[in-house]
Amino acid sequence: VKPRLPRGRQFFANPGPTNIPDSILQAVAHVTVDFNDPAFISVYDGCVAGLKRVLKTEQEVFLYTGSGHAAWEAALVNLFSPGDMLLVPETGYFSESWAKMAQDLGLRFRTIEADWRRGVDFGALRAALAADSGHEIKAICAVHNETATGMVLPLAELRAALDATGHPALLLADTISSLGSMDFRMDGWGVDIAVGGSQKGLMLPTGMSFTGVSAKAMEAHKTSTLPKSYFNWTNMLTRRHRSFVGTVPTSLFYGLRESIRLLEEEGLDEVFARHARLGEAVRRCVRHWSGNNGPTLFCLTPDRFSDSVTAVLMPEGHDADAVRRIALGTFNVSLGGGLGRLGGKVFRIGHLGDLNEPMILGTLASVEMALRLAGVPHAPGGVNAAIEYLAEAARA
Ligand code: PLP
Repeated sequence: VKPRLPRGRQFFANPGPTNIPDSILQAVAHVTVDFNDPAFISVYDGCVAGLKRVLKTEQEVFLYTGSGHAAWEAALVNLFSPGDMLLVPETGYFSESWAKMAQDLGLRFRTIEADWRRGVDFGALRAALAADSGHEIKAICAVHNETATGMVLPLAELRAALDATGHPALLLADTISSLGSMDFRMDGWGVDIAVGGSQKGLMLPTGMSFTGVSAKAMEAHKTSTLPKSYFNWTNMLTRRHRSFVGTVPTSLFYGLRESIRLLEEEGLDEVFARHARLGEAVRRCVRHWSGNNGPTLFCLTPDRFSDSVTAVLMPEGHDADAVRRIALGTFNVSLGGGLGRLGGKVFRIGHLGDLNEPMILGTLASVEMALRLAGVPHAPGGVNAAIEYLAEAARA
């Protein structure tokens, strides 16, 4: 299939980074300001207050210049000491990566193994907590929304498992691909650390990440001995911004102010409902394609479907990256690839951030064309299933 010059708007259907609304692009294009100027400080303080409303927390938030990995690392080095034990419910590529980072930093971890298509069994998780009567496990590192598989890890259930066993472990939650697209309640779910990033549901450029930090986590920080400097919360608290030991990325804050304004103008519940609708449309389309031995939904647990990303499993013997190449080269639609052991086996459709029905329908139609051109078996007309669902949903 012949590639074409990209014309028209690219349909960016990667599960992060995401589309940046024009009003955020304009807000980010701000002249340089002194980050200690009172006018900027007031923008900054407003952003931190807004971020707390999005995280649904009244606790401390620390921000970092760096992508989500920076906030992952900040959480680990600020809380733990060499050799500390973490419990990691296996969700997929990102739970593995966070655990590997912990190991690189001198921590130990135990995994609650799980089938990536079905998700973690809470019975096994409760049993692991109950068996740890000496409380060797210092924390659970949980990826709320596994971006590699399109599956949610229900954090309220995780909190309930900790409470039921009376285990004192901290609950660390990665909200990188859920925050601002799917319901997340830091305080309501008793989350001690909420890790988030700028470039997904917040619709900002990549480059800033943050951690919500509970009072219990601040206590743990006081005795942590892992080496830390730039990320050290104690150092950050001495700064006017209570974050950023170095230069503050001011332009991202003008963007964040607009991001929070957009989210709150729509209303967080409406934002979540929109993503639920668009996610369901994608799933109905993929289910339709799966006829004729076509691609199928990777996630096999319907009550854990992610509303921000769908991983699509290719039929045996067909390469997901060939479909992605045609989608991008011929139709200018950018899809996510399979991560880790899912390389070539799945492609991912991101439906998070600034997105509406025409964007998702255009994406699905283009994927269907790419399937046809790549010679991948499928039942044609998946887009009609999405159209029917979205039209009825708009009537409601
Ligand atoms: N955690 C999750 C769930 C993610 O989806 C990602 C990135 O996609 C990361 C962590 C890593 O974040 P970053 O790429 O911003 O460093």
